[in-house]
Amino acid sequence: LKMRKAEPQGPQRVPGVNHIIAIASGKGGVGKSTVSSNIACALAQQGRRVGLLDADVYGPSQPRMLGVSGRPASPDGKTILPLRNHGVTMMSIGLMTNEDQAVVWRGPMLMGALQQMLMQVQWGALDVLIVDLPPGTGDVQMTLSQKAHVDGAIVVSTPQDVALLDARKGIDMFKQLHVPILGMVENMSTHVCSNCGHEEHVFGHGGVAAEAAKLGVPLLAEVPLDLQIRLASDGGAPIVVSQPDSAQAQAFHAIAAAL
Ligand code: ADP
Repeated sequence: LKMRKAEPQGPQRVPGVNHIIAIASGKGGVGKSTVSSNIACALAQQGRRVGLLDADVYGPSQPRMLGVSGRPASPDGKTILPLRNHGVTMMSIGLMTNEDQAVVWRGPMLMGALQQMLMQVQWGALDVLIVDLPPGTGDVQMTLSQKAHVDGAIVVSTPQDVALLDARKGIDMFKQLHVPILGMVENMSTHVCSNCGHEEHVFGHGGVAAEAAKLGVPLLAEVPLDLQIRLASDGGAPIVVSQPDSAQAQAFHAIAAAL
């Protein structure tokens, strides 16, 4: 009888990576990717060795937000070389598909792709790997926390009730997966008219703070709805890179400093 060595079970450490932080949201379009890229760049500016894994299979936006393009090389045919910009080492599912090609993968394929991006990318030595998750509570979230040791999750939401409802579900999922919640971020919190200075709460205000208090998790920041933030991301240099000293960048610097 041949004794077979047991497969290692449970979450594993990604070689060379000290901490993994997941950025999640209940809904799409609330600014999860914007928050991910700005936190990653802010951490890099603090001198940390940072990676960003764009695992948003349905809408990978990090190549555009970090201003990287091209297919990642695989000189040995086994491992993948990540790309790098603004001091951040990055890999995106979007770099493995065409930009306008929809990803219509089933669960097992998603899991394979995620595992590949975690374990076969040459991340090098990293203090922290930020993972930009798809919205919701699906296969990718489950797989990530089952395959890799995730140190904590940040949940991004707008103050709108419909977004908060889904954010709550996300927090509940991480609790079930035994991933600590580092805190919530209220995005698109206030909007100040660049013309007249009038302040408006397009999606309401304070909803995330109230929810965070109710759930007993920290509110990490309130990020304004701001044209410069959007323009910076679309231009491939997040606001913390293109305008590091601006008022808009401060919320992201604060989150990074608290990590
Ligand atoms: P998600 O990752 O949750 O789908 P994104 O980060 O891609 O959301 O943001 C959706 C859109 O909203 C993007 O065009 C982004 O530039 C814009 N956006 C996100 N946050 C802000 C903000 N605070 N101010 C202005 N535009 C924002």
